[in-house]
Amino acid sequence: MPAARGVHEAARALRDSYRCDCDGKVRRLRVLSREDGAEQVASNVEAITGQRYDGCPWRAYEDPFVGEVLRAYRHWKERSLHLVWGDDPPVALIRGLEVYDAALNAIRAHDMSEDRKKREQERQKQLNERAAKKGRGRP
Ligand SMILES: [Zn+2]
Repeated sequence: MPAARGVHEAARALRDSYRCDCDGKVRRLRVLSREDGAEQVASNVEAITGQRYDGCPWRAYEDPFVGEVLRAYRHWKERSLHLVWGDDPPVALIRGLEVYDAALNAIRAHDMSEDRKKREQERQKQLNERAAKKGRGRP
């Protein structure tokens, strides 16, 4: 599957650009430039969510708090958090879920808006091509 391999390679290249050792590779440290994938993603996330993250996102998965929020998220969305955390879940967990949910919603809304723009551009391009063909066909 070339498309899946392309996505995998893009993810690996992005992870490499964080220059982090969390994947077991030791890399020389260097300053990130605006052209680095890591910086571009961090800048986009900041522009969309208003939050700037520091460091490697893969490293964040090792943080027990992040792991707990990710584990709790589905239960929170399904309003079944009490099944795992009881009737009085930690306030910090709830706040983490709210922050994660807000960021996820902002990014999904952004992606949907970008998809809509792309479809509209494609539709407009097709209409223009059809109009040009009709125009050429006339004497
Ligand atoms: Zn890392």
